[in-house]
Amino acid sequence: MADGDGFREHVARLRSLSFKIGAYRPPSEGGSASLLLRVTENCPWNRCTFCEMYKGHRFVYRSVEEIKADIDTVAAIRDEITAVSWKLGLGGKITRDVGTALVAEGRDLIENSGFVTVFNWLSSGGRTAFLQDANSVIMRPPEFVAALKHLRETLPSLTRVTSYARSKTLAQRKPEELRMIREAGLDRLHIGLETGDDELLAIVRKGVTKAEQIEGGRKAIAAGFQVSEYWMPDLGGRERWRQHAENTAQALSAINPHYIRSRPLVPRPGTPLFEDVAQGRLRLSSPHERLEELARMIGGLEVTSRVCFDHAMNAWADRRGGLLFRQDYEGYRFPEEKPLVLERIREGLAVEESRHVHVRKLMAVRSL
Ligand code: SF4
Repeated sequence: MADGDGFREHVARLRSLSFKIGAYRPPSEGGSASLLLRVTENCPWNRCTFCEMYKGHRFVYRSVEEIKADIDTVAAIRDEITAVSWKLGLGGKITRDVGTALVAEGRDLIENSGFVTVFNWLSSGGRTAFLQDANSVIMRPPEFVAALKHLRETLPSLTRVTSYARSKTLAQRKPEELRMIREAGLDRLHIGLETGDDELLAIVRKGVTKAEQIEGGRKAIAAGFQVSEYWMPDLGGRERWRQHAENTAQALSAINPHYIRSRPLVPRPGTPLFEDVAQGRLRLSSPHERLEELARMIGGLEVTSRVCFDHAMNAWADRRGGLLFRQDYEGYRFPEEKPLVLERIREGLAVEESRHVHVRKLMAVRSL
């Protein structure tokens, strides 16, 4: 092992280095393998009635200088960790042994979120980054471009950079602005469509119309982004399930994103929608009714997307008590696998409703 003094110096420097990391990222973005970096903080809209993510936190527009300083800090942490690898004779490779050696010298590093994030990112190959928080494209385009260029130049091991975006903001951006952002190094956008139904969009205060959702999604694709659109089964409850399903299918078909991801509604305590459910203003569907809604939405999809059920709330049971849908991040290839998904839904409907126990349990635990 290398000399202790050398290690102490590295640990001391690592202790002094920190950068901003937010709470949320999509699960498909590589788990702890993704580097998390905050280019803005929280949500500039923050009014959707079902969303608790950034409630009580004010939006912060970060300056390019602050973002660049955070990127430089990530590079400095990377360099310290890599230097320890060389001292251990590991040739710059970031393995478990590097982490063990560092933590043996400074146990508190386990609690240091900057160190832990960069270490996990490096040990997974240092390939992907997710830019937080809720709507990075709200940044003024030239500033976003400057931040992205600095990111790509400073951390050249990155092969994919992704972020959340609101359709409304994408619709407001000029095509050439989006192209500039894409060319500066942002690859993939995760967009919360939730529903394509205008009445429901107004009820849940999404702050966008179906037409704007379509325009935003299409513009992003035309600029070269890979686009994931998230929709929310049961957002309209028993009263509006049909219009929700049909208009969502229409909007998604018009966009034809690369990925369509199902995120069934979970009423979160502290949100206006939770109160709507508690007061009986919104009546949630049963597991079978959610499948009926799904059948109508999927049946209306005319896309060449990947359709994904990559979330625990999509846990309907099949005849053998297993999962009805595959829950991987690549999902079902449409249109080829559309008949298969519709067949799976029919199987789920043929299963006694009480056997969709996992869906019921998750609805019960996380809602009322
Ligand atoms: S735009 Fe997204 S993050 Fe912001 S309140 Fe709505 S759902 Fe939540």
